[in-house]
Amino acid sequence: MQGTIVKVSGPLIVASGMSESKMYDVVRIGEQRLIGEIIELRGEMASIQVYEDTVGIGPGEPVYTTDMPLSVELAPGLIESIFDGIQRPLTTIYDESGDRISRGIEVPSLNRKKKWLFKPIAKVGDKVAAGDFLGAVDESPIVEHRIMVPNGVSGTVEWIFEGEATIEEPIARLRKENGETVELPMLQRWPVRRGRPYKEKLPPTEPMITGQRVIDTLFPIAKGGVAAVPGPFGSGKTVVQHQLAKWADADIIVYIGCGERGNEMTDVLMEFPELKDPRSGEPLMKRTVLIANTSDMPVAAREASIYTGITIAEYFRDMGYKIAIMADSTSRWAEALREMSGRLEEMPGEEGYPAYLSSRLAEFYERAGIVVCNGQDGRTGAISAIGAVSPPGGDTSEPVSQATLRIVKVFWGLSSSLAYARHFPAIDWLVSYSLYTGRLDEWFDKNVTPEWTAQRNEAMRILQEESELQEIVRLVGQDALSYKDRLTLEVARSIREDYLHQNAFDDVDTYTSPKKQAAMLDLILMFNELGQKAIENGAEINRIAALPVREEIGRAKYAPEAEYEATTAQIRARLNEQMAALGFEGGLLNA
Ligand code: ADP
Repeated sequence: MQGTIVKVSGPLIVASGMSESKMYDVVRIGEQRLIGEIIELRGEMASIQVYEDTVGIGPGEPVYTTDMPLSVELAPGLIESIFDGIQRPLTTIYDESGDRISRGIEVPSLNRKKKWLFKPIAKVGDKVAAGDFLGAVDESPIVEHRIMVPNGVSGTVEWIFEGEATIEEPIARLRKENGETVELPMLQRWPVRRGRPYKEKLPPTEPMITGQRVIDTLFPIAKGGVAAVPGPFGSGKTVVQHQLAKWADADIIVYIGCGERGNEMTDVLMEFPELKDPRSGEPLMKRTVLIANTSDMPVAAREASIYTGITIAEYFRDMGYKIAIMADSTSRWAEALREMSGRLEEMPGEEGYPAYLSSRLAEFYERAGIVVCNGQDGRTGAISAIGAVSPPGGDTSEPVSQATLRIVKVFWGLSSSLAYARHFPAIDWLVSYSLYTGRLDEWFDKNVTPEWTAQRNEAMRILQEESELQEIVRLVGQDALSYKDRLTLEVARSIREDYLHQNAFDDVDTYTSPKKQAAMLDLILMFNELGQKAIENGAEINRIAALPVREEIGRAKYAPEAEYEATTAQIRARLNEQMAALGFEGGLLNA
């Protein structure tokens, strides 16, 4: 079946004679067989977004339909790969055709020749259905790739393979209820615009621990949660994302990069492969899938990239893994959407974005979550999604930021002024929020310390009070404040500098376990509590502020995980001593 091009407008072409095609079918365009996808159908006319440069393509040329929706290949070989927005393997293409992707190039997404050692899990005679494990492949030293019965297939295992196989060779044969047999290879496909099925979505009740104090303590994200982080230039967005990729409690990272300017994406391509996985000591790529859109790639591929990414994430989720998916930046993605919408001559909404911007964004984030996976073992899998937004001029009142904020439950507001003051991570505690805190409190109180919620609330209260007090100081000066208020300012500074400030490049400080976080915060809050008591008992604020123990509190973050308990216990003891030595009457707290 074929149609004919009637119009070419950049990455959009309109073709006639397409009445038998379906929405989102993939087509091949012109003699060069460029890849495109039908994004609008009106009678026999189809609007097609083209994933390759359309220069030199003109009316009259043929359009070949494939009768297949835009799909990704799912099998061993995903991990460590770098794909473009429609899952063309960039590394392979670079190797084969040099620097740029030549047009119409047909390279399979996953390597067809490589042999993988398939270890059977299912046994002959087992009754299996969609999602059940047939076997597993050690895809990398860290990732066991579990081969599942594909969707819509069930039966009794008649034969199962053991040994080395390519992803296309059969590894199992099932006899279906109706008596037919079906041979299954490891390779599966899934249309990117449709979420992969699961049994049940669960409410998020567990945090995804990141080891980043400002995140875990003040603005935690749930496993299966969704967060947004805006990234004004130089605010430390890249470092935050690298820290999350390295340290977040996730088995697999899917990173979707939509290049900002010129070379920025190449930076990601260079940097990510350099990152080390701190837990395994292996390169982080050994549990990462990268999807990259450089800015010289057509916008349409960018539009598809987030679906390609989330589909791959869902596939690993279905194996029972915890995935962190990062999209950087969704603003660039939305611009692609806007450009295509403009070429389709749709009615523009706010700032030229199509009216369906919000629903498209929601469709992406809704595919995150924690679910009971298909398969008989009742396993769960989770996708936590973190989207970066890069509003022009850092102004979050624009449509993409606003639409994102209505969907996500966590907002880590990176601030240029904090970054300028070298306070990193530059997550502004006054504008950030997490709507998960309520749900996660119980987990933290139970699994870390019963004081967690109370401590977090107290720290947040002090930070908010600080901002009010600073207003007063600006108007009438520090001397107008009571001792108690001045102590509050001291404590707030300690929370900011000793606690929230975290150096990603320090071997110890780069990650703080929740228990150590609690112990550190406890010191600062104990200083506050004892200090307030001391003031009530007549102690002088300057002497409290000058206690030598404060420096030790500031250094507690550098206590290695194995030693922090002993270290913080010592600091607590000295805090008590030094407060008591201020020389006033009164019952001080016990260490
Ligand atoms: P962006 O991606 O927003 O342009 P980067 O993430 O590259 O900014 O950060 C800019 C610089 O800020 C980094 O090179 C680094 O020196 C510093 N920085 C950012 N975050 C941290 C951190 N958590 N710890 C220490 N330094 C940081």
